[in-house]
Amino acid sequence: MVILFSRSTMPETILVTGATSFIAGHIIKLLLEKDYNIRGTVRSQEKEALVLETIPENLRHRLSFVHVADIAVDSFDEAVQGVHGIIHVASPFHFKVTNPEKDLLLPAINGTESVLKAAHKYNTTHNDETNRIKRIVITSSFAAVVDGDKGLRPGYVYTEKDWSPLTYEEAATTTDNPAKVYRASKTLAEKAAWDFIEKQQPTFTIATICEPMVFGPRADNLKSLKDLNTSNAGIWTLVTSGSDATIPASRMPWEIDVRDVAFAHVAALEHETKTNERYVIAAQSYSNQEIVDIVHASTKIPSNIKDNAPRGIPGQRMEDHYQIDSTKAQKELGVNYIPLKTTIEDLILQLVDVQNRSQ
Ligand code: NDP
Repeated sequence: MVILFSRSTMPETILVTGATSFIAGHIIKLLLEKDYNIRGTVRSQEKEALVLETIPENLRHRLSFVHVADIAVDSFDEAVQGVHGIIHVASPFHFKVTNPEKDLLLPAINGTESVLKAAHKYNTTHNDETNRIKRIVITSSFAAVVDGDKGLRPGYVYTEKDWSPLTYEEAATTTDNPAKVYRASKTLAEKAAWDFIEKQQPTFTIATICEPMVFGPRADNLKSLKDLNTSNAGIWTLVTSGSDATIPASRMPWEIDVRDVAFAHVAALEHETKTNERYVIAAQSYSNQEIVDIVHASTKIPSNIKDNAPRGIPGQRMEDHYQIDSTKAQKELGVNYIPLKTTIEDLILQLVDVQNRSQ
């Protein structure tokens, strides 16, 4: 007798955009552990191979790929076919900005709109509820929450109700502050998602995840330190800047481990409310001084790394600054935070290994 699987007993397929990214690497790993099938979007065949080589051979059949070369202009119509949920991670995060619109704003905003448009179109042509896209989780950022111009804002507590006031016009004409353009790209992309939901009233719901600086080991086989993602590169630059180097002020004094970020995304996907939700997640506030203090005190980090790490003023902590209230995510998604010491040790040990292998 041939036993046919009914739709509900088949593993669901989740589309993860930007499958090559630091954050998506951990999301894919977690989704595979939870028995989902994955559709990843990547820019090219070469990038597809990079993702696939990090997946154990016995699990590779659970991944499929669609090439979306440029999220600023290309459609996700093919990528959404047959998927049940989406985690939209792809968006440029770098500060090499020569043209604010082309480099950051348009990929972030158009990419988010294209994913939502494709999913809505797909759902309107699939009447059977079990074959529809139910939930879309969008990687936003605390950059979409914080008002950067207000600085450290001692005593202020940011929550899901806060929005960065940056506008497209302001960002498009900013040529001397790439971090501001980046913050605008994330703000306007998330706003575009909420506008879409309000205007189109799709059959799926969304959850946006707003995380501050994300650090931690990569899930892929990073081959060279020059390919390190922006947030981790900041830590490596700090730690290897030389024993006499001055310690720069922290750009955004809150952090979270990448593994907790991945957990929150998957929990938000599975926490299928009938409502659309915004979640702010943040583990703890930190300063660059605290990071080098962790490095020097570590019993795991090798002495040649410690010898080259700045000392600054050990024990000195950040001046008073804003707080982030992430109790909603803790209650509804069950996120527990990995301590900064673990995040930094795991990251540095991995990067030392990459450095040794690439020499
Ligand atoms: P990465 O640089 O590792 O990943 C960026 C991803 O976006 C890559 O997969 C990249 O593809 C893809 N991408 C960028 N531009 C385009 C484009 N024009 N067309 C197609 N694909 C594109 O960064 P992270 O993993 O750190 O960031 C992932 C997400 O998390 C982003 O949305 C970022 O804003 C957000 N985030 C990150 C934080 C952090 O501290 N890391 C903090 C808060 C939010 P490719 O590899 O081919 O270039």
